[in-house]
Amino acid sequence: MYIVQVASECAPVIKAGGLGDVVFGLSRELENQGHTVDVILPKYDCMRYDHIWGLHEDYNDLWVPWGGGSIHCTVFGGKVHGLNCFFIEPHSNESFFNRGKYYGDNDDNLRFAFFSRAVLEYMCVTSKRPEIVHCHDWQTGLLPVMLFEQYKYRGMDSQRVCYTIHNFKHQGGGSVDILRAVQLDNDSYYMSPDRLKDNTLPNHINFMKSGIVYSNAVNTVSPHHAWEARFGNEGYSLGHTLYVHEDKFKGILNGLDYKVWNPELDEYISMPFGPEDFELKAYNKKGLRERLWLEEKDRPIIAYVGRLDDQKGVGLVHHALEYALRRSAQFVLLGSATSDAIKNLFWQTKNRLNDHPDVHLELGFNEELSHLIYAGADMMVVPSNYEPCGLTQMIALKYGTVPIVRGVGGLVNTVFDYDYDETHLPEERNGFVFYQTDVTALESAMHRPLELWYTDRKAFNQLAIQGMRCDYSWRQPVEQYVEVYEKIKV
Ligand code: ADP
Repeated sequence: MYIVQVASECAPVIKAGGLGDVVFGLSRELENQGHTVDVILPKYDCMRYDHIWGLHEDYNDLWVPWGGGSIHCTVFGGKVHGLNCFFIEPHSNESFFNRGKYYGDNDDNLRFAFFSRAVLEYMCVTSKRPEIVHCHDWQTGLLPVMLFEQYKYRGMDSQRVCYTIHNFKHQGGGSVDILRAVQLDNDSYYMSPDRLKDNTLPNHINFMKSGIVYSNAVNTVSPHHAWEARFGNEGYSLGHTLYVHEDKFKGILNGLDYKVWNPELDEYISMPFGPEDFELKAYNKKGLRERLWLEEKDRPIIAYVGRLDDQKGVGLVHHALEYALRRSAQFVLLGSATSDAIKNLFWQTKNRLNDHPDVHLELGFNEELSHLIYAGADMMVVPSNYEPCGLTQMIALKYGTVPIVRGVGGLVNTVFDYDYDETHLPEERNGFVFYQTDVTALESAMHRPLELWYTDRKAFNQLAIQGMRCDYSWRQPVEQYVEVYEKIKV
């Protein structure tokens, strides 16, 4: 099958979080399983050009209809670790993708509506005719609308769309002016409640809802989160839309690219290791301590890696640090804050604990350091408020770092409590789970692995090794995606 992935990120060239990892890992495994994949992305000024091989102009005469006129674009081609990628660069005064960052401007909705339109125009004029266009998250929600309302009549009538939702909280959208920009000129038709109209905001269109309504298949990134979105509050007002379209909606767990995330192959870490020589992990712990100026002593290291965002339960992340110190453990944090308030909180803490021999806070994004932390830490806390899938707990497992997670979303599908899980045999369990959002729940979940580490190291290590043996590769998830593609393709 020929599949085009359309997204705003693809690791390692463009990565703000899990979306980038997923687009890359999914595409690579599809290719491993014999399919042909192209990935189409915006050409940002701030992306990691050092991860692109053979960047060249692929198409220089792309005119993308926009508002009353059109915008000239150049499309670049290149390989990202073997993967065929295309990058769209608009030449306009708005500098849509030359802002020194991927997201966070007031016109994000317009920027990505433009991107979606540009992708279709590019495929249309270059006769790219994939069987499946796989769109990701709100940034590409308008693409299926334009495909089936406009481009279908320009020779693209046999393309089918699979739409994956990675985060229901960010839905994209805005006033009807966006319809003007993408030339969907029939307000009363598009603004009807069963099409693009936002479920709560009057006179607003909603990109993610548009993606759900118009795509041929829709999924989110874990079975449990699919259930939460459909029946709980996690769909952020899209629950009804999912109900209407329930026949095409499901959850497919994300995978990990074990060529990227694998302690046996990882070139960033001090010493490769696997479940058979778990004792070598100790060298990575030592290496991590040296790198972060932590004291060398017989103590566990607890880590947090992830965005510092309300979604991630930042209050509990902060409390985990305090509790770890109370229990004489060491704590390492790597995170980039998504708001000034959160940034201030963690900067204050960082300054207060600057000379502490048992703590290191690294505030920012650092891919290489994240590998060292996964490899060197003993435990990883993931106290999320909600978590569509979560990759950090799966990466931690692969690196023999025991996850302590809140039982929500994909965390429920991947971490099985050492003491209490009734659906898995003791030898299949791999971590610690708590459910409430208060500090007592977190502390009691952290207490259990700490006690095990202090009193029965052998059992703790055995648990870590069990985690390393879990298979969260892309193999199975990709089989499920291919099943979906087969079902919808013409
Ligand atoms: P989300 O997509 O919600 O941010 P996930 O757990 O799905 O969270 O994916 C997070 C990915 O981003 C992981 O690969 C993680 O290692 C990486 N990551 C998050 N924050 C940072 C950071 N500050 N530095 C390096 N990598 C990070």
